[in-house]
Amino acid sequence: MILLDGKATAAAIRSELKDKVAAQEARGIRTPGLAVILVGEDPASQVYVRNKEKACENVGIRSLAYRLPADSTQDAVEGLIRELNARDDVDGILLQLPLPKGLDSQACLDLIAPDKDVDGFHPVNMGRLALGLPGFAPCTPAGVIELLRRHNVTTSGKRAVVIGRSNIVGKPMAMMLWGYGDFANATVTVCHSRTPELAKLCAEADILVAAIGRPHFVTADMVKDGAVVVDVGINRTDDGLVGDCDFAAIKDKVSAITPVPGGVGPMTIAMLLVNTVKACENHLGLAN
Ligand code: NDP
Repeated sequence: MILLDGKATAAAIRSELKDKVAAQEARGIRTPGLAVILVGEDPASQVYVRNKEKACENVGIRSLAYRLPADSTQDAVEGLIRELNARDDVDGILLQLPLPKGLDSQACLDLIAPDKDVDGFHPVNMGRLALGLPGFAPCTPAGVIELLRRHNVTTSGKRAVVIGRSNIVGKPMAMMLWGYGDFANATVTVCHSRTPELAKLCAEADILVAAIGRPHFVTADMVKDGAVVVDVGINRTDDGLVGDCDFAAIKDKVSAITPVPGGVGPMTIAMLLVNTVKACENHLGLAN
């Protein structure tokens, strides 16, 4: 069994980015800048934002934090996004979700300039992904693909099942598994809460991706012998952080599996950094 170690893989990606940014800086090229907007005081969001800021600093990306009060108006958040869209020193804009009640997240996301949308949530980038055109792909599914690629997991011609159809994970994950440049080419089934015989479908998967948000939803009987299992879920329970898969019960029958924590989570942040460096290269005309 191969442990798909997201922590180590993310560290390798960060190290490559750090070298790249340092080499560009040595040539007099300005460093990439990521603006992170946090509205309100949601404790989990505060931790995520801090982790993203630290990860940026670690690779030499300038992180510009904007912390707005929970009672901010829609106009205030949109005004900030417009201001950041217009700034030449800001390559990426990240709006930490969820926004406090009363604010329209989609309207804010729609306002982020697609060339600065390093989270890949803008309809233009989602559309480009669907069409197979270059753009910014959402970080979590992009991190899954990168994790599989770097562990030489072949996907071409494989039967993939994705549980979950959210806009940030399940939906783009499916699109990436069926077609993502020279990788992917899997045959993909997407399951959700209305899917009958879900366990049976999962048990046919060579690659099973769980993005549900329910602790230990995927049990051993839902997993085919020798399958590759990717657990995107992050669930806070009395036993600490657990994934959507029953790791202990599954690990002995799979060929590869991601741990939680230390699997997809660190890859998500790494891909945010990759996207920010790419946005900067695009803005400076350095893209290859
Ligand atoms: P959402 O709640 O937006 O989507 C969950 C999906 O799971 C929905 O499509 C839902 O179906 C489906 N689902 C829920 N219950 C069932 C069920 N009983 N049977 C079948 N399908 C079901 O979640 P997200 O996609 O945002 O996140 C999923 C998980 O991934 C969460 O644990 C989240 O914390 C984690 N996550 C982890 C990240 C990381 O970096 N590792 C990043 C983002 C998320 P339906 O559409 O029918 O309601």
